[in-house]
Order: sequence, then C-alpha cells, then structure tokens
Amino acid sequence: MNALEVSDVGFAYGARRALDQVSFTAAQGRFTALLGPNGAGKSTLIALLTRLYDLQQGQIHIAGFGLRETPRKALARLGVVFQQSTLDLDLTVEQNLRYHAALHGMPRAVANERIEVELQRQQLGDRRRSKVRELNGGHRRRVEIARALLHRPDLLLLDEASAGLDPASRQALNQHVRMLCQEQGMSVLWTTHLLDEVRADDDLLVLNRGRLVAQGHAHELAENGD
Ligand code: ADP
Ligand code: ADP
Repeated sequence: MNALEVSDVGFAYGARRALDQVSFTAAQGRFTALLGPNGAGKSTLIALLTRLYDLQQGQIHIAGFGLRETPRKALARLGVVFQQSTLDLDLTVEQNLRYHAALHGMPRAVANERIEVELQRQQLGDRRRSKVRELNGGHRRRVEIARALLHRPDLLLLDEASAGLDPASRQALNQHVRMLCQEQGMSVLWTTHLLDEVRADDDLLVLNRGRLVAQGHAHELAENGD
C-alpha cells in the first residue's frame, strides 16, 4: 500500500485554477520530493492533504484511508511540519511535546514514552529543557518533526521545511529527514522550490502552474531532462 495516493485532484480559487488533474503516489519508506516554483500549487496541495480546504475534484488516500470517506482516519495517519512554526517559544522542547500529546488525548504514560523516543531520534535529548526561543532554526524544525511524529503517522509531510534556514542548517535538516527515511522506514513528502534539496535517488514530482509536469526517479529525469 502507498503512503499517499493523489488521484485526479483539481482545485480552483474562484476562476483561478491552482491544481489541474494532479495524480501521483508516494511509496512507503521513500523520500518523495515535490519540486515546484512559487505559485506552482504546492501550498494548495498541502492545504487539501491536511483538510484545510475541502476537495473540489479527485481523491486523496493516506495510508489507504480516503480523505473524503474517512477523513479522521486519514488525517490520523499524517504528520505535518508546516512552513509557519506553531511551537510555543516560551515553553521548553519537552513542554511543547507534552502539550501536543495532551491536546490529542494521549495517555500520560504513552506520551512520556513516545516523547523520550522522539527526543532521541531527533537528536534533541540534550535540548529537552531548553526553551524553543533559545534554539536555532534547525533545532526548532527538529522539534516540529518530533511533534509531528508523536502520534506515529504513516506519512511525514514537510512544507518548505528548510525555508528561512542558513545553507548549512538547510543541508543538515535535509540530511536528517533522509536518515529518518533510510534508517527508520519513515515515508516522507518534502516540498521545496529548491532543486539542490533533491537527490538522484529520490522519487521526484515536478509541479508547475498547477500541473504535474514530470515524475519518476530524480536521476532518470535528470538524464532525460530538457
Ligand atoms: P498573478 O499571478 O496574476 O500576479 P496572483 O497569483 O499574485 O496573481 O494573485 C491572484 C489573486 O489571488 C490575488 O487576488 C491575490 O491576492 C490572491 N492570492 C494569490 N496568492 C494568494 C495566497 N497565497 N493567499 C491568498 N491570496 C492569494
Ligand atoms: P506554491 O505553494 O507552489 O507557491 P500556491 O498553492 O500557493 O503555490 O499557489 C498556486 C496558485 O494559486 C497561484 O497562482 C496562487 O497565486 C494561487 N492562490 C493561492 N492561494 C490563493 C488564494 N487564497 N486565493 C486566490 N489564489 C490563490
């Protein structure tokens, strides 16, 4: 089963068409890069995936659950890192995670165990008592990833996650998310407008003006590319 299936999705803001017959899948355990310039429709697609907007046309399945038919189940399988951070800067890393777990009704013992696991996986163990305000941008992103993974989703969606980071932190974050994929089998959808965040063995989707203009292995697209 695919982590994500997008079938014939279309979306328009009034008369302005933002997505047109977009179909693709993101395979389990793979790093899928969604590349497109500003205005391509990436944010619109993410708003549909996260149900910020209702589907107008087509179908989306997350880990097999239809967003139309079983939206709660589908959304429970998704972990999202939005472009705009929603961390509380004045709480510690641990408090942010605890707050999120409580908000989602996670029993305390389960929350404690998962927070521990995520702090280690995101290499944040030594930052647990730091206020988010004291962390650099790269660390803050890792806190957001930890939070997105607390409910054990099947797909981790990152929307322009490297925006606003300096080049070294950008590189480190990209590397870190790839490690989650390769070593922990996480399925990732990474959106970006920056070609240098794509690697040869990625599953690559290229969106332009609301249409998927290329999809396949990044190295194949590079060979055939024109
Ligand atoms: P153009 O590409 O012709 O310059 P835009 O895409 O910038 O047009 O904008 C078209 C309309 O959609 C405008 O009314 C603009 O305010 C609105 N719009 C564009 N992008 C957004 C956005 N991300 N959020 C809200 N409104 C937007
Ligand atoms: P990206 O995230 O790839 O930059 P978007 O999904 O934000 O692309 O935008 C896709 C198209 O839809 C653009 O032409 C944009 O101007 C338009 N658009 C986005 N949001 C709105 C909105 N709220 N109202 C009108 N047009 C919008």
